[in-house]
Amino acid sequence: MSAHMPGHDANCIFCKIIAKQIPSKAVYEDEQVYAFHDINPWAPVHFLLIPKAHIPSMAHIGPEHAGLMGHMMALVPKLALEQGCNPYPDGGYRLVTNTGAEGGQEVHHLHFHVMGGARPWLRG
Ligand code: AMP
Ligand code: ZN
Repeated sequence: MSAHMPGHDANCIFCKIIAKQIPSKAVYEDEQVYAFHDINPWAPVHFLLIPKAHIPSMAHIGPEHAGLMGHMMALVPKLALEQGCNPYPDGGYRLVTNTGAEGGQEVHHLHFHVMGGARPWLRG
């Protein structure tokens, strides 16, 4: 992937994962998004869904992102079940997006955590 690719931040760990410069365990990929297993899972199922474009956080989302956000949210139920989350309502999952320092965000490339599977979990 070129350093001049629009929407790519050469210093961002998740942009490097999208560019396959850092390995990851893929869950799903299309033109707009990538999903991969969290390296430090809290729950039996724990993956991250990210846009391929470098959007730092939810604080950067506006009306122009409605299509992308809709695409991502519509993928969550399908990917969650495929990855082993149990069906609603006895199963289910948590969908979490940390935003900014006070929101507990550590990686500044927008990501949705999807966590599920049988309790107890390590955290959360
Ligand atoms: P946060 O920014 O606090 O919402 O969380 C960032 C998440 O990214 C954490 O759950 C990390 O375990 C995860 N993470 C960081 N580096 C990697 C990586 N190289 N591969 C997979 N997950 C990662
Ligand atoms: Zn990035």
